[in-house]
Amino acid sequence: MFSLNKKTITKKEQAVLDYMNRIYKKLEERDPHETEFLQAAKMLFNSLIPVFVKNSTYMEHNILERIIEPERIIMFRVPWVDDDNNMRVNRGYRVQFNSAIGPYKGGIRFHPSVNLSIMKFLGLTQIFKNSLTGQPIGGGKGGADFDPKGKSDQEIMRFCQSYMTELVNHIGPDTDIPAGDIGVGKREIGYMFGQYKRLQGAYHAGVLTGKALNYGGSRGRTEATGYGTIYFVDEMLKDNNLSFKNATLITSGSGNVAIYAMEKAIKLGAKVVACSDSSGYVYDPNGLSLQTIKRLKLTESARISEYVNTHPHAEYFDDGSKIWSVPCDIALPCATQNEIDEDSAKSLIQNGVRVVAEGANMPCTSEAIDLFIENNILFGPAQAVNAGGVAASALEMAQNSSRLAWSAEEVDVQLQVIMKRIYRRCTKAAQTYKQPKNLVVGSNIAGFTKVADTMIDLGNI
Ligand code: NDP
Repeated sequence: MFSLNKKTITKKEQAVLDYMNRIYKKLEERDPHETEFLQAAKMLFNSLIPVFVKNSTYMEHNILERIIEPERIIMFRVPWVDDDNNMRVNRGYRVQFNSAIGPYKGGIRFHPSVNLSIMKFLGLTQIFKNSLTGQPIGGGKGGADFDPKGKSDQEIMRFCQSYMTELVNHIGPDTDIPAGDIGVGKREIGYMFGQYKRLQGAYHAGVLTGKALNYGGSRGRTEATGYGTIYFVDEMLKDNNLSFKNATLITSGSGNVAIYAMEKAIKLGAKVVACSDSSGYVYDPNGLSLQTIKRLKLTESARISEYVNTHPHAEYFDDGSKIWSVPCDIALPCATQNEIDEDSAKSLIQNGVRVVAEGANMPCTSEAIDLFIENNILFGPAQAVNAGGVAASALEMAQNSSRLAWSAEEVDVQLQVIMKRIYRRCTKAAQTYKQPKNLVVGSNIAGFTKVADTMIDLGNI
């Protein structure tokens, strides 16, 4: 399973490989159906081999086995009534993965694909992403297998209220602070915050982030993940004497992350030629109109296919996964997990891609990432690239605690500082462990060491 790509393996290295193999085998035997979680764990373990070899304390404290087990998992029934008076039930989750460096923090996803494996993989990667930001936040994730598509506003409200009726028992401004994710935006956060406030009989503004401005939201939070993605990629480009100017860019998805990534990239001189939704993708070699995409996706909740109605020179293809065959300099997967597999990666490389950066969480399979790294494509991993969202959420928490509201410029300046710092941390860790071009290794190591060292300080709890 885990191995080192070299002829002679020292005793110390062999001991680490044995340790990792033993723990991974146990995970596989215990939860063989949790494929996404196992995938994320494997990627993490692989990056951490040199850290465990260099620092024997981590093995002495059995950090890997401890860190890979969530502190708490809450699974619950979410009953609700639809508009036709049918009693419906979904399954809700909150995975409180690690609170060593701060209260659990991570989004809530409403999507029919949600299951425990996806919640655990998202929670695990959230720990290291949050640590990388340098802010005092632990890792968690939540959601439900509820499909918001086609539901009325009243149905969404009833569902959010029911979900919060159970979640209220487990969260708080100093314990666990959820935010949005796929299928959960300002509207859903508003309904959940309203229900939390009603059940608590108190106004704890800092219990959820991603709120609207009127009741404690932060300026710049909506844009933060997309903008942060571009700030990170900008650092990667500058470090390699490249820039966004005249670069051709594609993003998968046309949701929160994709839209604001496109917006900032265009501002920095890039040309966005393709983007998608879960049904298909649009392509225009002369550049897409972000104004139309925003109208379709943010205002009208329409399909991206409708883009060609007002832009007949653009083309629509009804298989979104084929977007990776579009030639580009920069590819930003910003939709969902495992959207770029080995074949898509080969196609991107053959068509001359220079940079791939993960706006979404785990959108590239490990085979795809290996190919990018082997072919010297600049690769930005999710835990670093999309950390701007949670970083701005932590800034929202800071504003809520101090009962202040910062200007959009203040938030944006802080976001830029944080993204630059994350980039520096990743490159420094990658250099220290002699893999200077590998930001996957760099980001995992930089995120991990702070949490692991703290767990040692706090004892075996
Ligand atoms: P949204 O729900 O706003 O948008 C998701 C977009 O992806 C939509 O355009 C959706 O299409 C599309 N999509 C969903 N599933 C697929 C699929 N299987 N194939 C192609 N397209 C698909 O979500 P976000 O933009 O908030 O999140 C996107 C990713 O970024 C997720 O992985 C999330 O975990 C991650 N992320 C988000 C953060 C945030 O602050 N929002 C922070 C950090 C990470 P359709 O319109 O058809 O549904």
